[in-house]
Amino acid sequence: MDEPSTELVESSARLLDLIRSGAADTRPELSARTGLGRTAITQRVTTLLDAGLLEEGDLNPSTGGRQARTLRFRRDAGRILTAELGATGYTAGVTDLMGTVLTMRHCDVDIARGPETVLSEVESTLDELLTGIGGAAGDVWGVGLGLPGPVEFATARPSEPPIMPGWNNYPVRERLGARYAAPVWVDNEVNLLCLGELRTPGSAVDLGDLLYVKVGTGIGAGVSHAGHLHRGAQGCAGDIGHAAVSDDNAVVCRCGKTGCLEAVAGGAALARDGTELARSGASP
Ligand SMILES: [Zn+2]
Repeated sequence: MDEPSTELVESSARLLDLIRSGAADTRPELSARTGLGRTAITQRVTTLLDAGLLEEGDLNPSTGGRQARTLRFRRDAGRILTAELGATGYTAGVTDLMGTVLTMRHCDVDIARGPETVLSEVESTLDELLTGIGGAAGDVWGVGLGLPGPVEFATARPSEPPIMPGWNNYPVRERLGARYAAPVWVDNEVNLLCLGELRTPGSAVDLGDLLYVKVGTGIGAGVSHAGHLHRGAQGCAGDIGHAAVSDDNAVVCRCGKTGCLEAVAGGAALARDGTELARSGASP
């Protein structure tokens, strides 16, 4: 089979998105929404049906004149594996193709134990979750992973992450792609939280301009303008946790530098200060 043209792939993806989002569910509606002619619509819809992404539904009685057959997105055609990794633990889950979470679990693991150990644990958890809902390896259509440090999005490799020894330039995509035989996306975890807010109805979906700040053990931010995530050079745009905010040399960060934001205000810093105050009797 010849490789389909970029235009064909993009317009087919657009049709799929219209159906997936509920904006259109018949061929005439797709035509009205996109301006594509009947033949073009038929060709693309047939491709999407053959690919298993769409299925034919009932006749739509409300369109007037000739009834049109509805089209449905096959949300259960495949499964997506996801994991959000923080400094001290991760949340792993399996979703359908709409992104609806079918099962999830939180586990503790120190990100500083390195990629081999941490990713092995994440993979085992994902395998168990998938099996738990009756899924098999062949059902996996994609893998999405968030990491608690800068990630160069194009290569899916951590980019000098301050708190992740052993992770710099680690081939995360290659590893997971080989294991699950599916496309893999890797990004900074807070970028993904930001994207989630932008795309989930009921949250920031109509805002577009958004600063999403996560304060966990560390601190990170996702930056979006006009609905587009800004990752910055080497994925460092929202990496505010290690920006210097204090001249006090006694404020030592776990990244090795002094005066970092998260060494002052991150969860680990708050726990440290609280413990100290309790020990010294300054606070009960
Ligand atoms: Zn730091």
